[in-house]
Formats: sequence, structure tokens, C-alpha cells
Amino acid sequence: MDVIVIGGGIGGLSAAIGLAAGGARVTLLEKNARLGGKLNVWEYGGFTFDTGPHVLTMPWALDEVFQAAGRRLAAELPLTPLKTVCRYHFPRKPLLYLDIPSDPNAAAQAINDFAPGQAAGFRRFLAYARQVSDATTEPFLRQDFGASVRGVPSRQQWRQLAAFLALKPWRSLRDVVRECFSDPRLRRIFELYALYSGSHPARCSSIFATVADVQWRQGTYYVPGGLYRLAEKLSQIAQDLGINIATESSVKEVIVKAGRARGIRTASGERLYADAVVCNADCLTAMKTLIPPEHRCRWPDRRVDAIEPSTSAFLLLLGVAGTYPQLAHHNSFLAADGDAEFRSIFDARRPADDPTVGVACQSVTDPTKAPPGCSNLFVMTNPPALPPDPQSWGSQTFDWHTEAPAYREQVLCKLETMGLTDLRQRIQVEQMWTPLDLQSRYGAHRGAIYGLSSNGWRNAFLRPPQVSPDVQGLYFVGGSTHPGGGLPLCALSGMNAARRIASSE
Ligand SMILES: Cc1cc2nc3c(=O)[nH]c(=O)nc-3n(C[C@H](O)[C@H](O)[C@H](O)COP(=O)(O)OP(=O)(O)OC[C@H]3O[C@@H](n4cnc5c(N)ncnc54)[C@H](O)[C@@H]3O)c2cc1C
Repeated sequence: MDVIVIGGGIGGLSAAIGLAAGGARVTLLEKNARLGGKLNVWEYGGFTFDTGPHVLTMPWALDEVFQAAGRRLAAELPLTPLKTVCRYHFPRKPLLYLDIPSDPNAAAQAINDFAPGQAAGFRRFLAYARQVSDATTEPFLRQDFGASVRGVPSRQQWRQLAAFLALKPWRSLRDVVRECFSDPRLRRIFELYALYSGSHPARCSSIFATVADVQWRQGTYYVPGGLYRLAEKLSQIAQDLGINIATESSVKEVIVKAGRARGIRTASGERLYADAVVCNADCLTAMKTLIPPEHRCRWPDRRVDAIEPSTSAFLLLLGVAGTYPQLAHHNSFLAADGDAEFRSIFDARRPADDPTVGVACQSVTDPTKAPPGCSNLFVMTNPPALPPDPQSWGSQTFDWHTEAPAYREQVLCKLETMGLTDLRQRIQVEQMWTPLDLQSRYGAHRGAIYGLSSNGWRNAFLRPPQVSPDVQGLYFVGGSTHPGGGLPLCALSGMNAARRIASSE
């Protein structure tokens, strides 16, 4: 069987490896010069920056890809477990931070020392998160539950559905956080989990509490040398399996004949034919640009521009002189008013004036990332995705072309005020990325990190299906489809698609 994979992100690489390991002849076309998609790297002046993910969670999901090729993740890339999940810096004087250890008992103790009486709520939150993981991993992550139900659900599927409904997923993440914690600072920290799927805590389901189980039971890891090593390793495995990889090859169109995907046409006009096509390009972008309009009937059932995208990212990659002892590997400099931040992102659709700023400093864990005595800071905020049409939001529309330099200044000033003294003077190398960069580099629909937000039932539970309902032999993989964004879920989507294609032969 011949399969073409469009895009070399984690979803595309995983699908390609799963397919090739099963005997398919696979060609992977990537528009950029390097594979990895959003899992990427920037090196300059002795500094190295991961430009996307900084931590790996659910390593078992990636290990499934390695196992398909007869390898093991732990043997190929020994991971470093992070002892501190995150250091939360609070905007108050005197400056205050809270380290949350990755050991659950130590975390409960740290939380209780910080806010007496809150450890019991933390344990309840963890127990709920575990229940969510147990009820959702098999039916919803390892497969597309909706698509796997054909006709009347089986007994097992009824049981899975009952276990899911027992979680009361109609409650919001905010409801569960508020039930478990009375301390406003802790509520703020745990509500931030909504942003891990680019969503609003009061509008996304309580099942996103599962992040706590992922962090505390399954662990948070760093890949020595940087997360990009994962992309390098998967690319190497793909080559070893004989996958035909063409970089700097942009696909312009999926060729559909008699309702079936027959191949692709590249930007240079070349046509390649295959028995199946796997699309790792953002599926909302693909709906607008790659799939001929007459073959977009059943999904999406609404205008692509009417679908709420996830949040985007604003990034500063800063190589700075010296070190900041108050930085852990992973830090979050909190906004003074969390509600105002969510209102700004999700209602006003503008980056918050006082955003929560994530700062990853890998050189704390891995000295190879910066010259001796220096630090590599990856600074990130969560602005909204780009408007569908810049004119449509009137004068309130934030224009990254003109306003990015002032926003950069705002973010750096905030970090200086919160203790990173003289940050601007200490910068030696710098790169700034706005949502416009995510859109142009990776073809991300409106620059969104995860495709759709998970606000509301429809977006969270009826994500774009992996198997196209309109075009036979066309499959979607990656963060914009099922089961969702983030490295492990993208890897699972790739493996799910590979299994589906193999079973359709
Ligand atoms: C700043 C940032 C921080 C993040 N942090 C984390 C984290 O800490 N942990 C975590 O798990 N996840 C994190 N994520 C999310 C994670 O990176 C993504 O969910 C995941 O990498 C997306 O993989 P994907 O399979 O969807 O493919 P993508 O990464 O979206 O790649 C798609 C690929 O397709 C290519 N392509 C697009 N159109 C075409 C075309 N027409 N022809 C050929 N090729 C095409 C693109 O160039 C790209 O290489 C982060 C993301 C960002 C941006």
C-alpha cells in the first residue's frame, strides 16, 4: 500500500512510522526545511532554544511510536524527570513564589505550607484527575470513541460511556477547581490548566483537570539536549524504516477522484499518487486550502471561520548574560488579575495588558543550552488567535504587525518588575515570534496552537474526525484533530490513523 503524509509534525511522523513499520510504502512531504513542526529549534550565538514544547508528559504515548518501530523511547532518549512541576511567581511585594514538587505528597505539603488547610482539596483534585485519565485514555485517546461506535454501541462502549458520564463532564474546570480549593491563589494556578488546551476555565469541561494526573502520576520530563531531540530521533527512525522524506515540499492540493483521495499536487505542480493520504497540516487550514470545495460537505458542518480557535502564542527567545537564581526550569509569572486576563483573551480578543508569562529556563537543568554563565529564556504568553479577517473586529483588533514591539516591552517590563532585574540590558541574542509566525511557519489556522479551543461541548467532544467523512482514504492527524493538542496526543493520533489505515486494507 502507498501512503502520502502531508506534514512532518509529531502527528505526521508518528503516522508515517506506524504505517511504514506495518509494511506500507510511505512518502512524507514537509513544507519547511526541517521536520518536527511546532516541535522545533532555534540556535544562535551559542544558545539553543526549543521553540515549542519544553516539557514532555505521558511519555508512554511517544513510546508507542518507538515500539512500533521495534525501539524503546527510554533506551533511545533517556528522560530527566523534573523535580519541580512549576515555580509560580506571584505579583506582590515582597516577591513570593511557590514551588510545586512533582512528588504528589511533597506537592500536598508545599500547598499546605503555602495555604494552610488546602492539601485535602489538592488530594481530591488529584483523585478526580486520576478518575478522568482512567475513564478516558482507552476509549477517547487511544481511539476516536464517536467514530468507533457503529450502529448500536457494544456493552463495553456503554460501560465506557457510563464511566465518562460519572465524571460529570458538563461541569467546568472552574467548578471543580472551586470545589477543591478555597484559596484564590491556588484557584488561579489550577485554572491555568485550561490554557493547556487553549481554552477558558469556565467554558471548558472539568475533564481538563486530567492535567494534574498527567503531571503527578505520569510525570513531567525534560529530554536532555532539548525537546527537539525527539523530532530528530523520530526523523531518524523514519529514515531507517525507508520512508521517503521530502522537505521544502509544500502540498497545494489533495487529488480527489470519485470521492476518494488519490494523491496530492505539490506547489511545484508535481503529482504524486497513493492509496491513502494522511494530512498532518492543520485540518482547518486544510479545509480552506487543500481539499477541493466540492469535497467539504459533512465536516465542518459550519463555516471554518465560525469555529472558535484555541489560543495562540507570543514568544521571546532570549539569550541573556548571567543567571537568575530565582528561576526554575519551568516558571509562571502570574497575572495580578486572572479574570481580567481571561476576559481580555476570550471576550475582548486582545492579548492581556498584564498577562501570565511562562518562562522556561532549560539552562537550569541542561548547561549545554547556553554559553557558560549565561541563560536561555523561553518567554511565552497566551494571546488569542488571529481574527478571521482583520477588518471584522473593528478598531479593537490587535495588529501584531505594528503593536508587537510595544507588547514585547510590556512583557519584559513585567518580568523585570517581578524580579528579573536588568533583563533588557542583559539580552545578547533575541528572536520574537507572534501568532503571525505560527500561522506562516506551520500553516496553523489563525496562528492557533491547538486548532480548535475546547470551549463548549461541540469543540471539546466533537473535534474534527480523523477519518474524513467526505473523502474516502483521507485521514487527519495532529493537534487540530482527535484527540487534541500536545505532543503525546498528537503521537496517539498518528498511531490511531496508522491502525485505521492498516485495518482498511
Ligand atoms: C510555543 C508552544 C509551546 C508548546 N508547549 C508544549 C508543551 O510543553 N508540551 C506539549 O506536549 N505540547 C506543547 N505544545 C504543543 C505541541 O507542540 C503541538 O501540539 C504539536 O507539536 C503539534 O503537532 P502536530 O502533529 O499537530 O503537527 P504540527 O506541529 O502542527 O506540524 C504540522 C506540519 O505540517 C507542515 N505543513 C503544513 N501545511 C503543509 C503543506 N501544505 N505541505 C507540506 N507540509 C505542510 C508544517 O510545516 C508542519 O511542519 C506547544 C506548542 C507551541 C507552539
